[in-house]
Amino acid sequence: MRIAVIGAGVGGLVAAAGLQADDHEVTVFERRASPSPDGAGLTLFSNAFEALDMLGLGDAVRAVSSDAIATMRAGQRHPSGSWLVTVPPSAVASLRSVHRVELHRALSGQLRDGTIRAGAAARVASGGSPSVTVGTRTEQFDLVVVADGARSANRAALGMDPGLRYAGYTAWRGVTSEPVDINGEAGETWGRGQLFGIVPLPDGRVYWFGTLNTAPGTTFADEHEAVTRHFAGWHAPIHHCLAATHPAAVIRHDIYDLARPLDTLARGRTVLLGDAAHAMTPNLGQGAGQGIEDAATLALLLRDTRPSELGAALARYSTLRQKRTRAIMQRSRMAGRVAQASGPVAAALRNTALRLTPGRVLGAVSQRLHSWPRPILH
Ligand SMILES: Cc1cc2nc3c(=O)[nH]c(=O)nc-3n(C[C@H](O)[C@H](O)[C@H](O)COP(=O)(O)OP(=O)(O)OC[C@H]3O[C@@H](n4cnc5c(N)ncnc54)[C@H](O)[C@@H]3O)c2cc1C
Repeated sequence: MRIAVIGAGVGGLVAAAGLQADDHEVTVFERRASPSPDGAGLTLFSNAFEALDMLGLGDAVRAVSSDAIATMRAGQRHPSGSWLVTVPPSAVASLRSVHRVELHRALSGQLRDGTIRAGAAARVASGGSPSVTVGTRTEQFDLVVVADGARSANRAALGMDPGLRYAGYTAWRGVTSEPVDINGEAGETWGRGQLFGIVPLPDGRVYWFGTLNTAPGTTFADEHEAVTRHFAGWHAPIHHCLAATHPAAVIRHDIYDLARPLDTLARGRTVLLGDAAHAMTPNLGQGAGQGIEDAATLALLLRDTRPSELGAALARYSTLRQKRTRAIMQRSRMAGRVAQASGPVAAALRNTALRLTPGRVLGAVSQRLHSWPRPILH
């Protein structure tokens, strides 16, 4: 089949590589002139690797990512540094971290030369017929995969946009410019209305993130100064991570998810994938992972599908992926509410509950979340 993928983010690239490996003729349209993401990090769990392995991409991503967290003490800490909960090793055994630029490079490297058309802002046909327009030129395909991110203009053009909903907090992210000794400890530190995360990268540098409850659209004159000020006095090595980050490498985004899950992920010969289909808050570290699951599910369903069966395959994709992502979107938002609790009583109750949660409960929750429900083919 001739397949167009709109968007060269993680979801679009994995879908393109998987579909191309199955001998589909794939073109990726990317709006940016240089299809490179922002400079922060990303964590991927075993569900993402099950899906990547099914597409033959797992080893390429393993080669640029680190499993260092699996050997570290990980969990949630109090700003003083005392541990609220340590997750059982099984919950992070398969967790890998990667610099986004490296991930994009590895995935793009799997595509045949000329697959990505950069600087091409693409539009779908509003009724779901499989055509793509860039500027004044329209091309026909057998299928269009819309992977243009949380603010997908094409989701809106298809009349499927429920809008976005502010999660109540903003997030700074950065990567240190040099290795930082994190003392074999990683994970998140939960305060009141703010949290800080520390994730080791393959070369010893550290990917960190810091969140803060604030009104949407709040501006800071100096992002590096603002994040340093808001986490002043928190345990080591938070200050060290921030000091080792170049101010220009600090990025910040207000956090939004879809206002409500979509009724369907398919319209005609067009399907939505990744954040365009199910933008979620980052609290479970599953946004990109779910886009990767989408890509593997779609590729599997399209294997050996005759043109006359395409409609049924897309409907199945929609049903399977809606069921899985709807639950994760809700849980992610709920996890964000708990993590960002700002009142003294709510935060104290949350911390007590965390301290009392048995490791086996966390292990069971993680087991369900971190397994890709591979579609059963008939
Ligand atoms: C603070 C934070 C931390 C996160 N941490 C994690 C994590 O640890 N693990 C995880 O799994 N997820 C995480 N996520 C979520 C993850 O970043 C996203 O789910 C993921 O990047 C979405 O990928 P995507 O390919 O669907 O969309 P995007 O990455 O948004 O890519 C969309 C692409 O489409 C292009 N585009 C847009 N419009 C057009 C158009 N009209 N034509 C052509 N191209 C277009 C864009 O330029 C872009 O390249 C985090 C998110 C945030 C905000």
